[in-house]
Amino acid sequence: MSNHQSFDLHELHDPEIPIPEGLEGSIAATSLSRIYNWSRARSTWPLLFGLACCAIEMIATASSRYDMSRFGMEVMRASPRQADLLIVSGTVTKKMVVPIVRIYNQMPEPKYVLAMGACASGGGPFKEGYNVVSGIDKYIPVDVYVPGCPPTPQALIYGFMALHKKMEGQQLFQRNSTPWYSRGPVDEIPIPILGPDIIDPRQASLLRQEVERQAQGVAMTEAQAEAGD
Ligand code: SF4
Repeated sequence: MSNHQSFDLHELHDPEIPIPEGLEGSIAATSLSRIYNWSRARSTWPLLFGLACCAIEMIATASSRYDMSRFGMEVMRASPRQADLLIVSGTVTKKMVVPIVRIYNQMPEPKYVLAMGACASGGGPFKEGYNVVSGIDKYIPVDVYVPGCPPTPQALIYGFMALHKKMEGQQLFQRNSTPWYSRGPVDEIPIPILGPDIIDPRQASLLRQEVERQAQGVAMTEAQAEAGD
């Protein structure tokens, strides 16, 4: 709903529910899922957080020229505990992926992630650079990707609209659609470990296997060398 327009009941009405003739503009009959999604999509609060050049375009999007407040999104929150949208706006270095995952874990459910630009989506011009992660989706789930280097504010707004569409398709009473209402706590994503390189704890067994395989190879080579002596 735009702040500059009067409220349109048709946005809220479920077209599958008939309304008596003459009352169409006065009442709306809707489902709980539809009103829940409608409210959530029009009050999404992004985290006040930027990474690189794409962040400048995100800041421009928040300015009066483009007007994020038309979506009820102008309240950028400085605390992850009050935000439900993480816009990953820029190059994700191996050093920064550690706090990004921590921040993501600190955001309450339901939460969404938008990968803004080529860097956040896949590494961009720095892909396979020694210090850059090839896409934030290697670590946290991404809901919307916005292409571009950098994407324009218009492209980011289009990404917001795609996210709203996704929200409006979610069903409150289907566990696989809104898993955050399942019983029990939601598992946190293990925080990556930054050493000489970045390590994803979820790949620990794979890394161990690889180290053991290489150690066996070294041992065999040494044994062959000794036998040759
Ligand atoms: S996608 Fe382009 S504009 Fe955005 S952070 Fe990467 S290099 Fe900068």
